[in-house]
Amino acid sequence: ARLPATIAELAREVQAEHGEREFLVFNDERITYDGWFRAVAKLADHLVRQGVRQGDRVALAMRNLPEWPVALFAAGLCGAIVVPLNAWWTGDELRYALDQSGSTLLLCDEERLERLTAGDPAFTDRMKVIVSRSSRLDVASLESVIGLPAGYGSLPVRPLPAVAMAPDDPLTIFYTSGTTGRPKGALGTHRNMLSGLLAGDFIAQRGALRRGEPARELPPSVTLMTIPLFHVTGCASLLMSALACGGKIVLMHKWNPVEAMSLIERERITSAGGVPTIAWQLIDSPDRSRYDLSSLDYVPYGGAPAAPDLPVLIQRELAAIPYNGWGMTETSGTITGHSAEDYLNRPDSCGPPLPVDELRVTDEAGQDVPIGEIGELRVRGPQIVMGYWRNPEATEATFGDGWLHTGDLARLDEEGFCTIVGRSKDVIIRGGENIYAVEVENALFSHPAVTDAAVVALPHDRLGEEPAAMVQIADGHTPAEEELKLWLRQRLAAFKIPIVIRFHDGPLPRNANGKVLKNEVRLLLLAETLQD
Ligand code: ATP
Ligand code: MG
Repeated sequence: ARLPATIAELAREVQAEHGEREFLVFNDERITYDGWFRAVAKLADHLVRQGVRQGDRVALAMRNLPEWPVALFAAGLCGAIVVPLNAWWTGDELRYALDQSGSTLLLCDEERLERLTAGDPAFTDRMKVIVSRSSRLDVASLESVIGLPAGYGSLPVRPLPAVAMAPDDPLTIFYTSGTTGRPKGALGTHRNMLSGLLAGDFIAQRGALRRGEPARELPPSVTLMTIPLFHVTGCASLLMSALACGGKIVLMHKWNPVEAMSLIERERITSAGGVPTIAWQLIDSPDRSRYDLSSLDYVPYGGAPAAPDLPVLIQRELAAIPYNGWGMTETSGTITGHSAEDYLNRPDSCGPPLPVDELRVTDEAGQDVPIGEIGELRVRGPQIVMGYWRNPEATEATFGDGWLHTGDLARLDEEGFCTIVGRSKDVIIRGGENIYAVEVENALFSHPAVTDAAVVALPHDRLGEEPAAMVQIADGHTPAEEELKLWLRQRLAAFKIPIVIRFHDGPLPRNANGKVLKNEVRLLLLAETLQD
C-alpha cells in the first residue's frame, strides 16, 4: 500500500475511506471517522483564527480523551509543530517543556490547567489556552469549553487550512521519557511519523511472510488504548496505525486491569497491550476468569524490557498472540518487532528491523562487532527524527554521523533478530565485570513469587559498584531473601548476585511509560541499606 505523504493527506484519505466507521470510543461516547474529521476541521479553523501559523509550536497536555487525536490533527493541519506533553508531569515540569519548546498555544484538560495555574495565576496571561473537559465534567459541557458538541457528527464540514505541507516539514516534538535524565524533545517530521504506519500489520504478518505465504488483508483492529497518547508508543504505534487502517480505538482515561477486561468483553477488543507491565497485570489478575477475553488476538508491547517467560504466558493464559517491538522516541515508534512463533522461538529478542530500517551493533570506536557480540545499537531509516529541539550538542552526539546512537546495548543473530541486553547507562560494573541489570531482573521475575523487580548499582569503595535488588512479592508468598539469592545462584554467575534483595510493598515506582524509576529505587535501597 502507498503511504500518505503528510498528515493532511492521511486525514483526507481515512475520512473518504472509513467515514462511517467508528473510530473513537470513550465511556459511552462513540465518534465516527467522519465526526472526528469534522471536529478536526473546525478546531483547525479556530486555531488559524487564534493566529496559529506554520512552524508555531502548539502544546497538547491532556490525558487520553477523544479531543487528543482531534487536537493533534487540527494543530498539525495548520502547519504547527505539535508538542504532546506528559500528563503525569507536575506544574513545573509542564512549564519547563512549554518554555523549552517555545509553545505559543496550549490545548489542555482542566486538571493540567489547574496544575499550571496553581501558584502561577498569571499563566493564562502569558499563554493562549484552549481547555477541553476534565474527567470530572460531563460530555455536555464540552460544547462550552472547546466549542465541539458531543459525538462531533453534527458539525458542518469546513475546508482544511490552506497550508502547503511537505513530507520533511517538522510535525511533532515528543519528549523522551526521562528515564536517564531530563526529557529531550525529539523533532519529528511527517515522513518520520507516517513511515511507521504499516509496521503493526507487517510485524503481525512477518512470520507468515518469512514462510513465503502471501500478505493478507487483516480486518481492522479494535485497539484498547491502555497507555498514554502523549508518548510515541501510544500515538504512533497504536493510534496512528489503527487510524490508517480504519480501526477502532477504545480510550482508557487511566489504566486499570479490571476496567480493561470489562472493556475487552464489552467492545470485543482484538488488541490490548502497550507495555509489558500491562500484559503482566492482565495475566496476574485474580478477576480474569470473570470476563470473556476471547476476542483478544494480539497482546503487543514495547518500550521496556519484557521477561522471556511473558510470551508463552500470553499464549497460554490469554490465548492471544504475543508481540514485542523495540523503538524509541527518537525513532518515532517501532523499528524492530516480531510476534507469534518467531517471538515464542526467541523469547529474549525484540525481532528484526522493518525492511526500511538498518541496524548496526558497534564497539566504542564505532566499528561493527561480530554477530552475537554485544555493543551499542545504531539505527538508520526514515523514522529517525531530525534531532533534539534546541539542543545542538546532544543532537550532534546522538545523530551526528547519520546513524542514531541509541544508548541501548544489543546483539544481533545470523538472521538479523535483535536482542536488547540493557542500556549503556544501566550496566553495573562490579570490579571490572559487567552486569546487565535486565538479566538479573529477568532471573528474579522467573521466581514464581516475584511480581516486580528492579536491579540497580550501589556504590562500593573497592569494587566501584555492586548490584542491589528491590522486588515485589505476590500476595500469599513469603520467600526469604536467602531463598531468592539461592534461586539466582542456580541461574547466574556468582558476581551477578545482588548483595541485598529488599522487599517493596506494592509495585515499584514507574513512569507513565511503565518504566521503573531506577533513581527512586536506588534512593530507597540506599536509605534501607544505610539503616543496617
Ligand atoms: P530518556 O531517553 O529520556 O532517558 P527513555 O529512553 O526511557 O528516556 P523512550 O524513548 O520512551 O525514553 O524509551 C526508549 C527506550 O526504551 C529504548 O532506548 C530502550 O532502552 C527501551 N525499550 C524500548 N522498547 C524496548 C523493548 N522492546 N525491549 C527492551 N527495551 C526497550
Ligand atoms: Mg532514551
